[in-house]
Amino acid sequence: MPEGHTLYALARDLHAAFAGTAPLVTSPQGRFTDGAALVSGRRLLGVTSRGKHLFLEFEGDTWVHVHLGLIGTFTVDHGGWTAEAPVVGQVRMRLATDQHVADLRGPTVCAVVTAEEVAAVLARLGPDPLRADSDPDVAWRRITRSNRSIAELLMDQSVLAGVGNVYRCEVLFRHRLSPATEGRRVRPTSWGLVWDDLVRLLPLGVATGRIVTVEEQVLEVEAALGRGEVPRLEERTSAVYKRDGQPCPRCGARIRTRLVAGRNLFWCGGCQRRR
Ligand SMILES: [Zn+2]
Repeated sequence: MPEGHTLYALARDLHAAFAGTAPLVTSPQGRFTDGAALVSGRRLLGVTSRGKHLFLEFEGDTWVHVHLGLIGTFTVDHGGWTAEAPVVGQVRMRLATDQHVADLRGPTVCAVVTAEEVAAVLARLGPDPLRADSDPDVAWRRITRSNRSIAELLMDQSVLAGVGNVYRCEVLFRHRLSPATEGRRVRPTSWGLVWDDLVRLLPLGVATGRIVTVEEQVLEVEAALGRGEVPRLEERTSAVYKRDGQPCPRCGARIRTRLVAGRNLFWCGGCQRRR
């Protein structure tokens, strides 16, 4: 499933391609024909993301709300296509101008909504570490009242928006937190470190298109960005994610895995032992 940094980069690309234009909006597949007719030809004011949700704001208090779910994709061309570009696969929604075409496939949500409905979606979401106006205390209040494990809470979009399975596993490892720790037993200082780390790591994901969580790579990418370069990365690496059975890079103990909230959790049985 795409994590928040992917949606953030997608919103940025869609905004750059379409904001200020009045794109032709269609539904080649036919399942969004009525919605497409409502927004087609309207001026697109902007595109934003919050967590895993995407919002396209059109003039006249009309929005399109998109959630990609597990398998959805939204591809934006970078020039060279036209509205007549061939349709490949099941395209729920196509945005097209003389310069750009974007195709949405397989979303769980693609709907025309009002500003009130957008506000209602936002009210259900926790703070997004990629947004400067996010308040980590909103997440903290939900965490510290909960008997659920921190591993479950980090994936709950009403606690924190945009963090998915890879970041959850890696950030818990980086702070030696046992994934089984109940929310109410997490120390405020630990939460502060986790939040600050997500605020540091997620923009690296936006900049590189990869999840960067291994400290050596984090420093490398930060240095490259500091020099104004686009960092080149080899294959994604992780400390614990999908490394079950291998030795922990920090303590050598065996990395474990278990299904939590429908997703495979990975952690080190040594340095992330429950205290
Ligand atoms: Zn370890």
